[in-house]
Amino acid sequence: MRIAIASGKGGTGKTTVAVNLALALEDVQLLDCDVEEPNCNLFLGFELEPVEEVNCLVPEIDPDRCTLCRNCASFCKYNALVSLPKKILSFPSLCHGCGGCSLVCPAGAIEEKPEPIGVIKKAPCGSPLTFLCGTLNIGKAMATPVIRSLQNHIDESKPVIIDSPPGTACPVLEVMECADYCVLVTESTPFGFHDFLLALEAAKALNVPVGVVLNRDGLGDSRVEDFCRAEGIPVLLRIPDDRTIARLYSEGIPFVKEMPEWKKKFEHMFGTIKGLACKNTGVQ
Ligand code: SF4
Ligand code: SF4
Repeated sequence: MRIAIASGKGGTGKTTVAVNLALALEDVQLLDCDVEEPNCNLFLGFELEPVEEVNCLVPEIDPDRCTLCRNCASFCKYNALVSLPKKILSFPSLCHGCGGCSLVCPAGAIEEKPEPIGVIKKAPCGSPLTFLCGTLNIGKAMATPVIRSLQNHIDESKPVIIDSPPGTACPVLEVMECADYCVLVTESTPFGFHDFLLALEAAKALNVPVGVVLNRDGLGDSRVEDFCRAEGIPVLLRIPDDRTIARLYSEGIPFVKEMPEWKKKFEHMFGTIKGLACKNTGVQ
């Protein structure tokens, strides 16, 4: 079973939930798919080992063959190719590697060359948790291929906890799409509610069952909870606005390690998710 931990915006506690849930359970795999800002290992502290370089195929244009027909630049929706009067300029950092430009080139002037965009790393064998993370190279815009490469390392024999990228753009959709259940982490504030609704819409569109974790519960108001009750969305867990939890977070310590009572709560949440995912309930 794959559980995506997502949120409509950054800073809601998504990584905290993913890491603490993974540490509370036994024999699970944790994947950090927030490849633009992978933070899980700040709390885990593993000496990560590289396992795979991720490449994107970007076009290289042979000026001797190019007839300046401009088909490629017109085709590219990402502005990675720009047609100048005497040459075609290419911007590999904008390229999404779709391969379309080489298909529409009538002169066979485009060759696709692999360009490194990221790396997959893993915790060493024998670590207490099976953990992998993807990192997008600085200056690269293409998070999705890194996420896909990371997903290729999923071990189907174990439950998989996936720390998703925040927001509702392509990278998070890539994660939600492969998930059996999506946990949306949010705070009950006006901004939190707004971003929560956006993430919920994304999950609905992908037909993934959803439950909610209320972080810093006690701050803000009851708008998320009222909404969930009205819509039949389960509130799986409430993490209070607690001084000890905040201190442990600031020290980079997962709070299940120091507050054993939370291990039970995360285990209970996992049991609830298993039941809900099997029934395929939640929001459709
Ligand atoms: S491969 Fe796709 S995204 Fe990249 S330059 Fe060609 S058309 Fe544009
Ligand atoms: S499609 Fe091919 S021939 Fe036409 S401008 Fe692009 S590279 Fe040159």
